[in-house]
Amino acid sequence: MSGPDSRGYFGDFGGRFVPEVLIAALDELEQAMTAAFADPAFWAEYHAVLRDFVGRPSPIYRCERYAAEVSPVPLVMKREDTNHTGAHKINNTVGQALLARRMGKRRLLAETGAGQHGVATATVGAKFGLTVDVYMGARDIERQALNVEVMRLFGAQVHAVTSGTQTLKDATNEAFRVWAGRVEDTFYVIGSVVGAHPYPFMVRELQKVIGVEARRQTLERYGRLPSDVIACVGGGSNAMGIFSGFVDDREVKLWGVEAGGKGVDGDEHAASLRAGSIGVLHGSRSYLLQSPEGQVRETHSISAGLDYPGVGPEHAFFRESGRARYVDITDAQAVEAFHGFARCEGILPALESAHAIAFARELAAQRGADGLILVNLSGRGDKDIGRC
Ligand SMILES: *Cc1c(COP(=O)(O)O)cnc(C)c1O
Repeated sequence: MSGPDSRGYFGDFGGRFVPEVLIAALDELEQAMTAAFADPAFWAEYHAVLRDFVGRPSPIYRCERYAAEVSPVPLVMKREDTNHTGAHKINNTVGQALLARRMGKRRLLAETGAGQHGVATATVGAKFGLTVDVYMGARDIERQALNVEVMRLFGAQVHAVTSGTQTLKDATNEAFRVWAGRVEDTFYVIGSVVGAHPYPFMVRELQKVIGVEARRQTLERYGRLPSDVIACVGGGSNAMGIFSGFVDDREVKLWGVEAGGKGVDGDEHAASLRAGSIGVLHGSRSYLLQSPEGQVRETHSISAGLDYPGVGPEHAFFRESGRARYVDITDAQAVEAFHGFARCEGILPALESAHAIAFARELAAQRGADGLILVNLSGRGDKDIGRC
């Protein structure tokens, strides 16, 4: 699997669309990342923390009952829900915190919508003794009170952003502004495979552990590779993480599942690849949901983690090259999968992951006996109790 070109492009997508003041900071980050990724000691510490603190490797688990009535094809979950803090996001924040420490940065800066990335950043801040400032829309602070409380318990400062719609995109603008003002001591922790180069590549490499483990585990357990690998796509980090293990296995089909919300024919969804167009958002060129005038559109998904108007540039590249295919699942289908999966398997999936599970059931019904479907169960659903 290859990286972006020297300017940070995957095909036509990616790059660096940021104010001049941030170029030097991104260059400094790229140099430090390149040195760290070439240093076995960096990876040794990263994997030791993932083992002892996060609880890796996460298991794979074959569903015994869910979808059994539609198909005999093995349906196998990669259990990222078993990680400390309950989702894949911690793999990334562990890596970025280690990098921040190597760079001598004492302060982590993050923006968060649903609060999941804020919690993952606050967690590693506490563990590594780094100061954490989280920017969050004032409306999101109200809606996500539990996550805000967890961040505060871990010692993070949560700053309310009161401009615009008081949600994620305003928090992102504010975090960018704050970073530009104090790049000397501050490391900006991005939560998905989005943003200016080198973030999409860096986050992919830090989530790749999911796919590398899953490939080895599937071969050990079943003696073959999966026919299909499925993951939900918000910004695209859990999907890119599991895809990375299989990209070079051309026979393995890769599927990204976007949030279809109330249907991609209307306006209330978050399916950037299915229903968006090419533009620039948060520092890179990719697909996004925008008006004909180029204004970023309001999005909707029942799952907060998928409710984002853009998508990582490498996914845009995979879509154009055909290496991965992208589909959508509506709110109603995801909710049905959430309940059905809980009842049949004794596992509460995150609503985000429930999108991937719903599509897996559809695909299983079409696969012959030699199929083997691997789904990334990106997180646990405790946070969604009472929401659906
Ligand atoms: C944040 C989140 C997602 C979406 O983010 P990606 O970068 O697309 O992976 C998916 N699932 C869970 C459980 C999340 O917390």
